[in-house]
Amino acid sequence: MGYSGFKVFWEGLRGNTGWKPVWRDPAPKPHYDVIIIGGGGHGLTTAYYLAKNHGITNVAVLERGYLGGGNVGRNTTIVRANYLLPGNSEFYSHSLKLWEGMEQELNYNTMMSQRGVLNLAHSDGQMDAFARRGNQMLIQGDDAELLDADGVRAHAPFLNFKSQRFPIRGGLLHRRGGTARHDAVAWGYARGADRMGVDLIQNCEVTGFRIENGKVRGVETSRGYIGAGKVGMAVAGRTGQVAAMAGLRLPIESHVLQAFVSEGLKPIIPGVVTFGMGHFYISQSDKGGLVFGGDLDFYNSYAARGNLPMLEHVMEAGMAMVPMIGNARMLRGWGGIMDMSMDGSPIIDRTPIDGLFLNGGWCYGGFKATPGSGWCFAHLLATGEYHKAATRFRLNRFETGHVLDEEGTGARPNKH
Ligand SMILES: Cc1cc2nc3c(=O)[nH]c(=O)nc-3n(C[C@H](O)[C@H](O)[C@H](O)COP(=O)(O)OP(=O)(O)OC[C@H]3O[C@@H](n4cnc5c(N)ncnc54)[C@H](O)[C@@H]3O)c2cc1C
Repeated sequence: MGYSGFKVFWEGLRGNTGWKPVWRDPAPKPHYDVIIIGGGGHGLTTAYYLAKNHGITNVAVLERGYLGGGNVGRNTTIVRANYLLPGNSEFYSHSLKLWEGMEQELNYNTMMSQRGVLNLAHSDGQMDAFARRGNQMLIQGDDAELLDADGVRAHAPFLNFKSQRFPIRGGLLHRRGGTARHDAVAWGYARGADRMGVDLIQNCEVTGFRIENGKVRGVETSRGYIGAGKVGMAVAGRTGQVAAMAGLRLPIESHVLQAFVSEGLKPIIPGVVTFGMGHFYISQSDKGGLVFGGDLDFYNSYAARGNLPMLEHVMEAGMAMVPMIGNARMLRGWGGIMDMSMDGSPIIDRTPIDGLFLNGGWCYGGFKATPGSGWCFAHLLATGEYHKAATRFRLNRFETGHVLDEEGTGARPNKH
């Protein structure tokens, strides 16, 4: 079923009785060419691009819960390509271009809204760092504008320009950055993959791997054994646990990241504003809610829920830089489990087990990677070659020391 303005109008006239489920609910087949574990953004895009770019349609996505119930539906929806380091820079640039064509490609309204991402700077040193980052973004072919304090005031006059502790010196504005409707991204790719013959199998938890002579043969699941030529893991916060079932120990730790939303208000926040020094960022949803978040919980956890200490921390930081949020009523907060890698950058690679591939370590930034990740992971699964936008996301960088430490904070996953 294609969507169009006419279809919406027509269904409105007849009580919306003509909409059909947009993907099938198939029973697992005994064997697939490729099994993707995890029906989040990355698993769904991988399946979609396997079918679309490589013609591989005998594919199953196995999801232990429901499609989009993980981090793809829990994040704060920020999309951007403002990375500094070679490796990250070209990858996120590639991904942003896919975001820009996504709605037309999927015939699905993902509410992609490029209203800009502004990173605030509070010191001369930070301004220098942003100038360097902005230049790298321009060299990569993306956009960047270095704003002085007046430029920031013109863009976001509601910020606290009187702060003694965090004086606003300027900021880096990335106009092509913005937000998108996260659930719609999952649903759009799910529908697209299903239409090309991919089996999306929900309530199907992978509980083990069948590995013979160093090669993966299939997976044990809560719905029985399913054979596979190749298996790709795309399980985000569960990466360490699922890989352990195959006997792998990865340079990844899981931490909770929380976010919050206020009641709906009239439009006030232009795109996204980040206050990195205070670990706070904010945007406004199309419904009007102020969407904001902060830092990770510092201890490891698999509990996808919020807690009061981090709530207090985020509210304090928010009040410091955006004092007007004190007038808004908060509606809810939530948490998701982040697969934090040791250098803060992701992994798209094969594993030491033949036929078993890994997509993980996306930390708190994997939503913006969603289309690029699926594109590059599908490329690796289909061709055995690394896509040119993702050549550096290799596992062996943790052995060779050629890490992608964007934050320069060292091997401290919770610090990235
Ligand atoms: C509060 C919060 C804010 C965030 N904000 C942003 C942001 O603004 N911008 C950004 O770029 N990123 C953001 N992120 C990060 C981003 O959401 C994640 O990096 C990304 O969604 C992870 O990839 P995914 O969508 O595939 O994960 P998920 O949606 O979590 O998909 C993984 C799936 O694997 C399934 N699974 C796990 N184990 C098994 C198993 N054994 N068998 C079968 N299935 C299994 C899970 O149920 C889950 O559905 C945020 C995250 C959170 C929590």
